[in-house]
Parts: sequence; C-alpha cells; structure tokens
Amino acid sequence: MRLHVLGSGTAIPHPERGASGYALVADDGAACLLECGPGSTRRWPSAGIDFGSARVVAVTHFHVDHVCDLAAVLFGRAVIDAEAPLALVGPIGHRGHVAGLRALFTPWLDDPAGLVEVHELADGDSLTLPPFELSARHVVHAEHALGLRVRADGATLAFSGDSGPCDALVELCRGADVALLECSYPSARETRSHLNATTAAEVACAAGVERLVLTHFYPACDGADLEAEVRAAGYRGALHLARDGDRIDVTARA
Ligand SMILES: [Zn+2]
Ligand SMILES: [Zn+2]
Repeated sequence: MRLHVLGSGTAIPHPERGASGYALVADDGAACLLECGPGSTRRWPSAGIDFGSARVVAVTHFHVDHVCDLAAVLFGRAVIDAEAPLALVGPIGHRGHVAGLRALFTPWLDDPAGLVEVHELADGDSLTLPPFELSARHVVHAEHALGLRVRADGATLAFSGDSGPCDALVELCRGADVALLECSYPSARETRSHLNATTAAEVACAAGVERLVLTHFYPACDGADLEAEVRAAGYRGALHLARDGDRIDVTARA
C-alpha cells in the first residue's frame, strides 16, 4: 500500500503544511483516510482517491485539526448521492460526535441510504474493513485518544495520532513496517501530551522502528534541524520528515 501525506501540519495556518490528513491506498485502489483535518479533503483527488468510494475515514481524537472536514465528507456524499459504503472510525465518543455534526447541519449530512457506518474503537480493539485491518491503542493525549495500526497488502503502518511518549505507543509501533509519528515540536520544547524530536526518536528506538516518518509539525519546527535532533537522540534507522504531497510506499520489511 501507499501512504499519501495530505497535511503534515496542524490547525495553525502555514504556507506549506495543511492540517492533519493522510491516505493509505491499497493495491486494489481502496482508500483508508487517517485524520480529516480542515482542508485535508481538498487533497484527496491528488492522492488518486475517488471521493464517493473512499472506504474508511478514521480519526484518532476530536481536536479540530484532526476532524474538522468530517462534516464536509458527509455533506459531499449527500450531494453526489454516493453509492459506496463508508466506515467512519474513531475513538469512544465518535457516534456522538457524528450525531452532533448531523444535528448541527441538519438535514444536510443525513444518510438516507444507510451507507455510513460509525465504529468506535477502544484500547486493544481491532476492526477488519477489507482490505484494511485496523487495531487501536489508547495513547496519552486526549480522553480516549487512539494510535492506530493499519495493515493491508501484507504491510503495516503504525500511526501515533497525537500522543505523548507512552508504553502503548511503543507497543503500537513494534514490528510495524513504517511508523508515522507526530513530532509537534523541536527538542527544546518539553511536552507530555505530544512528541518532540527527542521523544519521537526515543519511542522509535524503544520500538525497534526501522522506517520512521515524522509529521504534525507546529510552526515552531520551522527552521529547526529536526533530523539532527532525532539522530542526536540515538535513532539510526531510515528517517523522513513529511511534507504535504509526499507519497511513501509501505511495504513489508525484508
Ligand atoms: Zn490533538
Ligand atoms: Zn493535532
């Protein structure tokens, strides 16, 4: 499968980085979106995603920079009379979140054909939505916040969502072919609810990660030498700092 970086930034407007959005496209063309930050849907077409047939949209928590386009997805599907099923996956509270959006925008997000399923995942849960297999861990960030593993085509991506350093995040990443970790800040900024360059490297080292992609950069990262900071923290594997528009193959480790 292939990972497309739709937005490597946050809710803070940035000239080069959009809010959180990633797409995993399987070999058969099925798409699993990870996060749905404001403006991220605009980039679906450039990732080759047919809007009406996206299979899964998964969000890790309910912060605005991760969920704000969910209403746009439901509205757009109603406008085009989408005929394909869509799974909306999120943490505990996701059903209420989606219901709240529908109430707010009633009736424009309704789904009279019953094609939209909402799934809530808690720590340790897994869900199969062929060709994707998702599994979740509760990570340290917001109530019920999730990190997700997504497996398809024999390869696995681990995605931190937003998370501070924690054992669950290390376990989530262990054995994954690619780890996509948030890196909100340079190392000089200490935080327990996000990763910085040093703590991201420490998580990757503890998990034995061989391919690390860092993302979710706040503007404080502009001008910082994040790669040097990650290396100084001891991570020796492959490293990529995500940019919007990146396409990254997620294939099984040799
Ligand atoms: Zn957050
Ligand atoms: Zn965030």
